[in-house]
Amino acid sequence: MALHATSPPKAPLRRSVAVSVVVPVFNEEGSLRELHRRLRAVLDRVGEPCEVVYVDDGSTDGSRAVLAELGEADPGLILVELAHNAGQHGAVLAGFQVSRGKVVVTLDADLQNPPEEIPKLLAKIAEGYDVVGGVRQGRKDSWPRLAVSRMIRAVSSGGASAMDYGCMLRAYRREIVQRVLRWREHSLFIPALAERFTRRVAEVPVAHEERHFGRSRYGVFRLMRLGFDFLTGFSVLPVQLVTMFGILTALAGLSFGAFLFLRRLFVGPEVEGVFTLFAILFLFLGALFVAIGVVGEYVARIYNEVRRRPLYVIESIRRRSE
Ligand code: UDP
Ligand code: MG
Repeated sequence: MALHATSPPKAPLRRSVAVSVVVPVFNEEGSLRELHRRLRAVLDRVGEPCEVVYVDDGSTDGSRAVLAELGEADPGLILVELAHNAGQHGAVLAGFQVSRGKVVVTLDADLQNPPEEIPKLLAKIAEGYDVVGGVRQGRKDSWPRLAVSRMIRAVSSGGASAMDYGCMLRAYRREIVQRVLRWREHSLFIPALAERFTRRVAEVPVAHEERHFGRSRYGVFRLMRLGFDFLTGFSVLPVQLVTMFGILTALAGLSFGAFLFLRRLFVGPEVEGVFTLFAILFLFLGALFVAIGVVGEYVARIYNEVRRRPLYVIESIRRRSE
């Protein structure tokens, strides 16, 4: 067996690997065995050397032990253990770094994306596309999830297509993976980022299943953060909206002032007007707060960049020595 831990990062290119499947894992104890069994069955049918890179994103349940156990039986399994919970996209990046395949497929560990759909993606890649994204058919997610997706799609619809960015069942050609790795600073949202590096992007419909084990790792706050990651990383729409709002508010205030002035000329001074002025004041205050909030969001991100905080820290990589 001889499972050994090597220190990161450079994975030696011992023999060429055609396909790497990168799976971020955060407390997915329940689904891992079934996932690996189905994944193996699919990869065995590919007919070329494949590897599976599980990135344990600081799980606190038995996920690590289960993965280590699966690794004993499967020489094509690489287990990357992160020192702390880096989040889904950080974990996928770590997996990218360790993967060696000419094509890299990402897949969720919770079996919401059926592994059986992978050959569809590979077939599209073989047609010459650089990035192939799955589009979930009949999504089985909670409504806040779907709402955020809709928002992201609305914001990004200026782009080439209405990609299903939330679907992590995707395939990337090696060059794209390298570019994503190199452009580390903005890579919090991998599917959107990858598309900046190529125009050969295709989509295929894929099935979507309900979560059978555990709950979605995305609560309201995580979703909000993801939404903001996307907004600040890939669009200037929030700032534009705030500016627009500011202009409209100022115009409204101006015309109201003019109205009061004319009224004073023709009707005479009004006494109760104090209250309307209060209303205007509060409107302005509101606008100011929104503006400060959004600017703060950007400043926080600049701060993060400046600090150069690593997105993830690899603790160990286990693969069977050959
Ligand atoms: N995940 C992760 N780190 C996290 C949160 C999630 O590696 O901090 C993994 C999780 O184990 C799963 C995938 O990312 O494989 C998607 O997570 P989840 O199913 O909770 O998201 P959803 O399906 O609701 O988008
Ligand atoms: Mg899921």
